Amino acid sequence: MACAVASSFAGKAVVATQPRRTAGRRAVAAAPRAALEAQRCATPFDGYKFEPIRESQISRAMTRRYFKAMDEHAEVDVVIVGAGSAGLACAYELSKYPDVKVAIIEQGVAPGGGAWLGGQLFSAMCIRKPAHTLLDELQVPYEDDGEFVVVRHAALMTSTLLSKVLKAPNITMFNATAAEDLIVKQDEKRGKYVAGCVTNWTLVSLNHDTQMCMDPNVIEAKVMVSSCGHDGPMGAAGVKRLARLGMIDRAPGMGALDMNTAEDAIVDQTREIVPGMVVCGMEVAEVAGSPRMGPTFGAMFISGQKAAHVALNTLRRQQQEQASDKEQQKELVSA
Ligand SMILES: Cc1cc2nc3c(=O)[nH]c(=O)nc-3n(C[C@H](O)[C@H](O)[C@H](O)COP(=O)(O)OP(=O)(O)OC[C@H]3O[C@@H](n4cnc5c(N)ncnc54)[C@H](O)[C@@H]3O)c2cc1C
Repeated sequence: MACAVASSFAGKAVVATQPRRTAGRRAVAAAPRAALEAQRCATPFDGYKFEPIRESQISRAMTRRYFKAMDEHAEVDVVIVGAGSAGLACAYELSKYPDVKVAIIEQGVAPGGGAWLGGQLFSAMCIRKPAHTLLDELQVPYEDDGEFVVVRHAALMTSTLLSKVLKAPNITMFNATAAEDLIVKQDEKRGKYVAGCVTNWTLVSLNHDTQMCMDPNVIEAKVMVSSCGHDGPMGAAGVKRLARLGMIDRAPGMGALDMNTAEDAIVDQTREIVPGMVVCGMEVAEVAGSPRMGPTFGAMFISGQKAAHVALNTLRRQQQEQASDKEQQKELVSA
């Protein structure tokens, strides 16, 4: 249609500049002109036809896979809560360990957290060196500005990281799903420890005030990584819950901005904050009271990568403890 309108304008323009012709000659000229017109409007997708389908096939294709994924991830090695820059970097690092089963819970429909833009909604993403080595690894192009590098658009970095994570066979993401609470258990050795998280559809979580009886679901995990970002309606959810449970003293909130100290502090304070729960990204500043850093993202990525290794260390320690428990039991039986 657009093509026809455009061509009729073009046709008029052509006619206006041509000398007058007789009616018979015009009719003869119209046929080749129509052929030319059709050729000009042709696209490789003309006459495109999809395979036939029944609506129920599409429904089953989605639900079967989703519920299979839920079934397979009721118990995982690591659950990452929050798919912002820190959570995604953590997942990316864990993708290098294919025997570690990972679930990501993200309350938003669109994963990526605050890393789709730079500061004050500008496009560029600044990353201080030496964190640019992650960009080299991911083959994300950047401009070198000396002490830091600049990715032309933050979305390029976030989408690249996201695509790597989503392709990893050991990682499954459940978005539009919120972590509402923690699973906390207690034993003699570890005392109180985090053993996973309580989940619900985000739309349900946001409507507990208006609807009753909307019980949540659970994911048991050997380690939970909390990367929920800043305080807000959902943010800093992990550490805020720990504070309410008395498992940490308090979550005082991030300090005022100081780029030089903030990023080092975030990476330094990325740790297993209570047994079974690792904290990373801006949630660290919320619990440590350390300075915010402004729109420079290196600490988010490195903190996420560090969190992955803290989680791996915790998994190894748990395996060793289980192995030594088994040995002790064997010895008791044989004695
Ligand atoms: C007030 C404010 C101040 C900021 N200040 C800074 C700053 O000083 N420095 C800086 O670098 N950036 C700042 N930012 C930008 C941005 O938040 C960070 O740069 C960066 O995106 C943080 O990375 P993150 O991965 O820690 O958290 P985010 O990118 O915020 O990602 C957290 C993710 O967790 C999800 N989530 C949260 N709670 C839950 C839950 N209960 N269940 C499931 N998912 C959950 C969120 O939807 C989100 O996708 C600021 C943003 C805000 C809103």
